Amino acid sequence: MKASKMIIPTLKEAPNEAQIANHILLIRAGMIKKLVAGVYNYLPMGLKVLGKIENIIREEMNLSEAQEILSSALQPKELWEESGRWFKYGPELMRLNDRHNREFCLGPTHEEIFTYLARDLIKSYKQLPVCLYQIQTKYRDELRPRFGLMRGREFIMKDAYSFDIDLAGLDKSYNVMYDTYTRIFNRLNIKFKTVLADTGAIGGSESHQFMALSDIGESTIAYCSSCDYAADEEKCEAISSEKIEKETLQETALIHTPNAKTIEEVVNFLNCDIKKVVKSIVYADDFNSRLVMVLVRGDRDINEIKVVNALDIPEAFLRLASDNEIAKINSVSGFVGPVNAENVMILVDKEVSEMSNFIVGANKKDYHLTNVNFGRDFNGTVKDLRMAKEGDICPVCGKPLSFERGIEVGQIFKLQTKYSEAMDACVLDSQGVKTPLVMGSYGIGVTRTMAAIIEQNHDEFGICWPLNVAPYHAVIVPVNYNDEAQQNLALEIYEKLRNNKVDVVLDDRDAKVGFKFKDWELIGVPYIITVGKKAIEDIVEFKVRKENIKVEKTKEEATNIIIDAVKNL
Ligand code: ATP
Ligand code: MG
Repeated sequence: MKASKMIIPTLKEAPNEAQIANHILLIRAGMIKKLVAGVYNYLPMGLKVLGKIENIIREEMNLSEAQEILSSALQPKELWEESGRWFKYGPELMRLNDRHNREFCLGPTHEEIFTYLARDLIKSYKQLPVCLYQIQTKYRDELRPRFGLMRGREFIMKDAYSFDIDLAGLDKSYNVMYDTYTRIFNRLNIKFKTVLADTGAIGGSESHQFMALSDIGESTIAYCSSCDYAADEEKCEAISSEKIEKETLQETALIHTPNAKTIEEVVNFLNCDIKKVVKSIVYADDFNSRLVMVLVRGDRDINEIKVVNALDIPEAFLRLASDNEIAKINSVSGFVGPVNAENVMILVDKEVSEMSNFIVGANKKDYHLTNVNFGRDFNGTVKDLRMAKEGDICPVCGKPLSFERGIEVGQIFKLQTKYSEAMDACVLDSQGVKTPLVMGSYGIGVTRTMAAIIEQNHDEFGICWPLNVAPYHAVIVPVNYNDEAQQNLALEIYEKLRNNKVDVVLDDRDAKVGFKFKDWELIGVPYIITVGKKAIEDIVEFKVRKENIKVEKTKEEATNIIIDAVKNL
C-alpha cells in the first residue's frame, strides 16, 4: 500500500478523554475513533490489527476442532426468559422493542443462542463432543465505560460453547479450551497468568480467567509463589496470617462519639487500634427486597462478589442502602451496628466472628458500642466476605500471597447443565435416554486483547506491535521521493517485499522525513527502511522499531531479514 492513498489520522497530542497508554496510543495512532462513550469506530490501521488478532484466534480454535459460526447480535426476549436471565441480567442488558412491540436484547454473551442452536442441531450422543464458536460484536450497557477498548459498551468477543454427554466430557473440552487459550495468548505475545475465577452472571461450577499482567489492569490477582495457586481477588479465599486470641469477654458499653462516622474518625476519636473496630455496611438486596448488613474488620474491604454469592442473587441486584433504608432498620448512617438492628439480615465475616470485645456503631446518632461480641450480643450468618489482602496466606499451602494487577482478556466456564436444563436442550444417550447437554462457555475479549497488547508493548514514541499482529510488517520511507535513485530503490524494495508476502507500506507522501518517522513509530510498524542519499549504492538505513537503533544495510540484507521474519511467523 502506498501511504499517499491511505487515511493516516495520527495526532500529535493525547486526547483529553484518554489517560492510559493504550487508549491514548490507539487514538493518537489513528486506529480507532470514538462515536459515543464506550463505542468506537475501527479505522483502516486498527481494523488490520484486529483482523490479524482474530485470525490467530481462529487458527488456534480451528486447530482444536472448534467450528466457526456467526450468530445474530439481536436476540429475542423469549430465549432469555427460558434461561431465567431476562430479569436477572439487570441493567447491563441492552433491551429494545421492534415496531410490533416485541422485546429483544443486543447480546452481551450468547449462552441462550448457542443452547437454542444445539437443541435443534444435536440429537444424539454420537454427534458429541461439539464446540462451536464465533467472533462477533457484543453489547453491554456498562455502568462506567472507560479506558477506550478496555471497557466498551460495544466490543468484539470470540465466544465458544462446548457440548458434551457428561461431566467427564466437559472436563476434557474445558481443558482443550484452556490449552487453546494458552496458545492464543502466547502467540499474541501477551504476558499473562491464568487464575481461578468467580462464575458471575454466566454461572456454572468452575471458571478460570486469563489475565494480561499490567499495572493499569482493573483486576487484582492473588497468587502464591510457593505453589501454583492463583485467583482473581474477588474469588480468592481470605485467610489471615494473624493469630486471633480469644479474650475474656468484657461488658458492653455505650460511648459518646460525636461526629465520628467513618472508621478513621472512630479510631482517631477513641485512639484505638483499627483492628478493634468493625465496619457495618447496609446493602439493599433488590432481588429479595430485603436489607442486609455486612460486617468486616475496620481495616478490611468487603468483597461484594462474596456477598452476592452468600445471598445467591445476581450482582446487579445488590446496592448500598439509602439513608431512608438505614432508618428502617432502626439505625442511622455513620453509626450502624449489628446490636439491636431490626428487619435486617446480618452477614458476618469469619474473622469478625473470631474477634473479641470490638467496637461497632450503636444505631444511635453520635454513639458507638464497645466490647461487643458475636454470639453474645448479636447473631448472623458467618461467611468469608472480605477481600484477600497483602498479609493473607495461600489457601492451598499456607505461604504468603502476593498481589498484582491484570487485564482480564479471557474467561472460561464449566456451565454444566445450567442452560441445557433450563432450555430443554437434550440428546439421547447410548441407552436411548434423554439427557441434558453438558456445556462449557469460553470468551476472549478480542478488542480488549488488542488494548492489552499495546499496554504491554509500547514506549515513549508509540506502539511496538509484535510482528504477527502489526498493521504492516514494514514501512519504506524515502527521504526524498522526488529523487530518482531513491524512488527507484524504494519501489524495488517495495515490490520485492510485496512479492514475498510482506505487508508493506511505501511512504510516498509529500512530507518531511521527520514527520513520517514520527508517524510510523507511533503506529508501531516493526521494521522501518529509510532510503536516502546512499540509494545509488543500494544501501539503506534499517531500524527494528522496538530496539530503536538504526544501522546501514544493503538492500538485500534489509529485505532478507524482513522476509525471513515474516516467513517464520
Ligand atoms: P469484566 O469483569 O471485565 O466486566 P466479564 O467477566 O463480565 O468482564 P465475560 O463475560 O467473562 O466478561 O466476557 C468474556 C471476555 O470479554 C472478558 O474476559 C473480557 O476480555 C471481554 N469483555 C467483557 N466485557 C467487556 C467490555 N465491556 N469491553 C471490552 N471487553 C469486554
Ligand atoms: Mg469474565
